[in-house]
Amino acid sequence: MRFLSTRGNSEPLEFADAFAAGLAPDGGLYVPESLPSIDSLISDNTLEYPELAAAFFKLFDHDHSSEKIDDLVHQSYSTFENPANAAPLIPIADKTHVLELFHGPTFAFKDFGLQLVGNMFEDQIDRTGKSINVLGATSGDTGSAAIHGLANKEGARVFILYPEGKISNIQERQMTCTGADNIFPIAIDGSFDDAQRIVKDLFGDLDFKRRAGLSAVNSINLARILAQSVYYIHAFNQLKPSQKSDVRFIVPTGNFGNVLAGWIASRMGLPVKGLTVATNQNDLLFRLFNDGTYKPRQVEPSLAPSMDIQIASNFERFLYYHLKGDGEKTSLIMKKIKEGEEVDVPNFDPGLFSATRTDDEGIMKNIRKAKEEYGYIPDPHTACCFNHIESEETSVILATAHPAKFPETIEQSIKESPKHENLEKLKELEPKKVNLTAETDIIRQYLESNILI
Ligand SMILES: *Cc1c(COP(=O)(O)O)cnc(C)c1O
Repeated sequence: MRFLSTRGNSEPLEFADAFAAGLAPDGGLYVPESLPSIDSLISDNTLEYPELAAAFFKLFDHDHSSEKIDDLVHQSYSTFENPANAAPLIPIADKTHVLELFHGPTFAFKDFGLQLVGNMFEDQIDRTGKSINVLGATSGDTGSAAIHGLANKEGARVFILYPEGKISNIQERQMTCTGADNIFPIAIDGSFDDAQRIVKDLFGDLDFKRRAGLSAVNSINLARILAQSVYYIHAFNQLKPSQKSDVRFIVPTGNFGNVLAGWIASRMGLPVKGLTVATNQNDLLFRLFNDGTYKPRQVEPSLAPSMDIQIASNFERFLYYHLKGDGEKTSLIMKKIKEGEEVDVPNFDPGLFSATRTDDEGIMKNIRKAKEEYGYIPDPHTACCFNHIESEETSVILATAHPAKFPETIEQSIKESPKHENLEKLKELEPKKVNLTAETDIIRQYLESNILI
């Protein structure tokens, strides 16, 4: 199976090379040349999660041997609470379910992609003999999931920039208390935007990038998206036969990676009736799916910080499919978007997608409502899914983080504070980080003396 760039101007690559490349040379994102059928993976006798994931990856990855894929996948989900059922489906009403995606090592759904990405990087290091230095910026969940995907892996070092004092205490401890020698958390005296700008500058310094063997783990990573399609199939397989004819997935959305994975599963044959994009007050995608216009605005920090985005990076993949694989048109529209123009998507048809938006007040209200009506406590991101659940159809709400990651908001909303013993244990560990000035040269210098070559 080959992978093509959404901008149509790069050589097609096989899986392992597309994975290693990240972004295509023409600036596009890699998409599979075709989407194979998953009919054989849809069944009533639920496969164990790692078996399902391995079978799914074998449809795309023809570089690794079948045994190697089994190994990589089993290793990746062995760190979850119950590997055989890594994504439990919890009924909370007759036709309403929560798909809990927070039973991995960092208690957020990003572990599904990043545990696997970590192991794929390790395999790449083994095969090529070349070490890698991962550089990223985080406002919380991605950084810690990437760190836990690569902690203690030989040949890999991880440098994650974050704004000092602007991420939650738990998130900071998840990054700084791993005890792993190859992890370098960098607290900068600036904002998340500063952190992102510095990372972008360093990746843009092509000489340094090559010398340092820099790799990224951002949300456009191909393996992350594919890994996320698996739990939609897993959820569907766990439903009762009578519930399978009208399934709607409701998905807390920021960069559009998670819900895009569901859409891909539907294109491969998963019978999905609808996909609801649930945004917070940063409602770019809510507006897009209602009027077909892509119009970024300034980010307003919210109670669901991992969805505070200005641009939805994975939208480019959807756009490419919407334009029937026309790389030239995709390229043109993405160029306008990059220049900050407002863009009308031609012949926009939301298809399976609909959207809902929840501001901070709504998040607090929905946490209360979920507890009162369903006896379920969602985290602030998942709370965005509880606006108006249709009791006539089968709903599957994707729960993207454990509520104990956001104790302050939950406490404020329902006067109780959820806990998780592993998060409690973090409080006793010794943090390890450096504090640096938010200047590209200073960060480059720090990297120069700490990268693995
Ligand atoms: C990253 C994240 C999201 C947003 O997912 P996207 O794939 O970027 O749409 C939602 N909830 C939580 C808890 C997250 O960490």
